[in-house]
Amino acid sequence: MSDSSPSFDNPAPARSKVRGPLGRLLAPIRGRLVVATLLAASGSMLTLVPLAGIVHIAQAALNTTAATGTIGWTITASIASLFVGMALVTAGEMLAHLADNHITHQLRVAIGQRLMQVPLGWFSERASSEVKRAMQDDIGTLHSLTAHFFTTLGRAVGAVLISVAYLFAMDWRLALIALLPFPAFFLFLHRAVKASAQHMGDVVAGMARIDNAVVEFVNGMPLVKAFGDRGNAQDRYRAAVDDFAATFTGFTRPLVAAMARANALIAPVTVLGVVLLAGMLFVALGWIEPLQILPFALVTPGLCAPLQLLHFITHDLNSAVAAAQRVQALLDTPVLPAPAAGSLPNGSEVRVEQLSHAYVPGNPVLNDISFTLAPGTTTAIVGPSGAGKSTLARLLLRFFDPDAGRITLGGVDLRQIESRELYRRIGFVLQEVRLIHASVADNIALGRPAATRQQVEAAARLANIHARILQLPRGYDSVIGEDAQLSGGEQQRLSIARAVLLDPPVLVLDEATAAADAESEAAIQDALARFAQGRTLLVIAHRLDTVMHADQILVIDQGTVREQGHHNALLARQGLYARLWTQGRYQDSVKKALPAC
Ligand code: ATP
Repeated sequence: MSDSSPSFDNPAPARSKVRGPLGRLLAPIRGRLVVATLLAASGSMLTLVPLAGIVHIAQAALNTTAATGTIGWTITASIASLFVGMALVTAGEMLAHLADNHITHQLRVAIGQRLMQVPLGWFSERASSEVKRAMQDDIGTLHSLTAHFFTTLGRAVGAVLISVAYLFAMDWRLALIALLPFPAFFLFLHRAVKASAQHMGDVVAGMARIDNAVVEFVNGMPLVKAFGDRGNAQDRYRAAVDDFAATFTGFTRPLVAAMARANALIAPVTVLGVVLLAGMLFVALGWIEPLQILPFALVTPGLCAPLQLLHFITHDLNSAVAAAQRVQALLDTPVLPAPAAGSLPNGSEVRVEQLSHAYVPGNPVLNDISFTLAPGTTTAIVGPSGAGKSTLARLLLRFFDPDAGRITLGGVDLRQIESRELYRRIGFVLQEVRLIHASVADNIALGRPAATRQQVEAAARLANIHARILQLPRGYDSVIGEDAQLSGGEQQRLSIARAVLLDPPVLVLDEATAAADAESEAAIQDALARFAQGRTLLVIAHRLDTVMHADQILVIDQGTVREQGHHNALLARQGLYARLWTQGRYQDSVKKALPAC
């Protein structure tokens, strides 16, 4: 079956505006879903034929004028319709599930590809629970839509259509009255949907807040335990839970009331009551025979179930729309512009030229910064907290692009270098180490999967983590998070091994020892000192001796370079660096680091 298949990333803009996020996501399987819905609808119609058969048999049995010879045919036709109907419904369900399988796979691949292209900085600004929710939970929600919603809709609509047509064929006047409760049901249903839609955004936002708060709460459990009720994470968790409870009450109150009224109207007993009353009246008026009430008494109450089903799937549709919005937002995440034709840097000199950046427009974090990292030299960036040091490091690693100015590596603007080529040349060890759920060896070889075990081990040795890895139950094959539980410092050394294996000429270190204890810190410093030999090094760290021995020190304050020079020259200036030094901010750590040198 051929469906029109616009990609998720490049939908036709005008049509996509009309269709909304759900329409855009389901576009590749729209044809299959339409066919599945039609199969389910016609199947459901056929499965109701036996009801008409029962009416016919009853009329034949009770009414001597009817031809009793048709009973055999009626039974045969009823059974045949039932089985063909069931086969059609099954075919529809299968088609919908296959389409669902296809779209789920495509969406996961498309999101994966998109996330490969988004700026690395995007991840640090987002809670991982948010991304996980869209990638896993929301796609699961879409499954209930693609695999079940449309076929259920088909079955329900098919059942309603055939029943209504049959009743009108029997007696249009009685049909009109017998069906009166149903338009009223739709009126209340419409009100209920409107009431829930108004609050749906709040409920979804509240759920997201709870998700984030749970992650924060669980991650911060040791602190929560230590500080009891005063723990901020617990407060935020409680606030998110309380807010959600209030929002949910606002969401459910109008919904429940409207739905209770709607359901009462189409309860089988109500519908049957209307049919019998109207039928008796019609008989009294001489408009119909008593036996003509039978099809109405049999078929009309059967309309309640499919109509209630329609109500339930409306609920599913609401959550599916919200899920589709989040998945589509993920697919629409702006990506870093890829270079038109990737250029290869010539050498490892890094030049930062008139660089400015603001996270929030009009509030620059870095302002007109220029400096050069000469090949093979060490540059230390120091400054008060919030000065913009980490922002500078992130720009250098192209976690995002600057608002103004540029950074070049080997004479080429970072924006013109393919990311694979860039990260082959610029390695980084950051405060926040990210390890994947894979073996220790795979984690080290992440950027160079073709590396041999010997190369991986050599990198681990240089990073001072080899001996620790050998102590793990399965050595290099131990899996992170399963039989490899590593301390913060050990994780740091693993990430250093990862950088070592890539052997980049330029290395960026951002507070690389912050997560380590004293012993681990010495091991990290030792590893870094050996690794940094001969490389262009940018260090953003308060706790490394490289601050003192760096070829140049840049003192950043409020986003601008205030001072620049060697340690001794800067101390002699009696400026900001000297003040920071005297305050002990760097002194302590340097003293601490000295034994490792
Ligand atoms: P520290 O030494 O405390 O780590 P820093 O010098 O590394 O600080 P940055 O992390 O670069 O400072 O932050 C510089 C400024 O930018 C701070 O005011 C910070 O609040 C702000 N900032 C950092 N990241 C973001 C972000 N993702 N969105 C908005 N503002 C940000």
